[in-house]
Amino acid sequence: AIDDHLNGITERYYSEFRIRAKSGAWVWYANYGKIMGNNGSMTRFTGVCFNLNEKKLREQELRTLNEQLTEKNMLLQRMNAELHTLATRDSMTGLYNRRNVGEREIRRAQRFEHPLALMIIDIDFFKRVNDTWGHIAGDQVIRAVADCCLQQTREQVDTVGRIGGEEFAVVLPETTLHNTLALAERLRERIATSRIPLIDGQTISVTVSIGAAELQPAFTSLNDLMMYADRALYRAKRAGRNQVNGQGW
Ligand code: GH3
Ligand code: MG
Ligand code: MG
Repeated sequence: AIDDHLNGITERYYSEFRIRAKSGAWVWYANYGKIMGNNGSMTRFTGVCFNLNEKKLREQELRTLNEQLTEKNMLLQRMNAELHTLATRDSMTGLYNRRNVGEREIRRAQRFEHPLALMIIDIDFFKRVNDTWGHIAGDQVIRAVADCCLQQTREQVDTVGRIGGEEFAVVLPETTLHNTLALAERLRERIATSRIPLIDGQTISVTVSIGAAELQPAFTSLNDLMMYADRALYRAKRAGRNQVNGQGW
């Protein structure tokens, strides 16, 4: 800074620096000054040196607070976004959009090496329901199957979501494939034997096919697990529908 001033670049010099105190602690100082005169052989300048420590500490404190505030704001934004997705309900069945919950459950199960399973439920020959009874009746059937899925699973533990027109997925934490197949079979039977009342007093019966899969260490996301469950569902359909199939590729 002094060189720049002597070379005429700045009107005065100013610099901030630290000096080590006797105690060993670093203390901030500032020094500024100006050339006062030049008698040909000597250059005379005046400067002031003062302690800047208090100001520097306060600046640092402020910077830390600002960083914390930015971090908190970002967290708040993320949480708000998540809350929004979680709060978005499927207007027909009232089921939440719970993809995020599913992803989180998978990460948790993998971290703690706990079992987790997923089942995909698809209504059989649903086009026929629509064709025979109309779309409004079809909607009622979708709602009834959604209710059945909720009733047969654990509240606050399992996550039921609607993933397609007449397709549902259920994430089952702390559940092995073995137990999931038993649960799926119970659900399949419950749906097959229930009579869904329509507004006009008539009743319809439908069946579902269910594909189930258990989380493997190699899976990296909900998609991997869904792919396996989907393959199992495909086999259940191929084998004649109204049945449960599990895992394998
Ligand atoms: P599959 O046994 O192979 O599953 O036969 P499917 O007839 O159920 O075949 P698919 O899954 O391809 O057909 C699903 C049909 O569901 C197609 C679509 O018209 C109907 N659908 C999708 N969403 C809705 C909805 O919200 N309401 C009603 N009423 N029908 C829907
Ligand atoms: Mg389908
Ligand atoms: Mg179907």
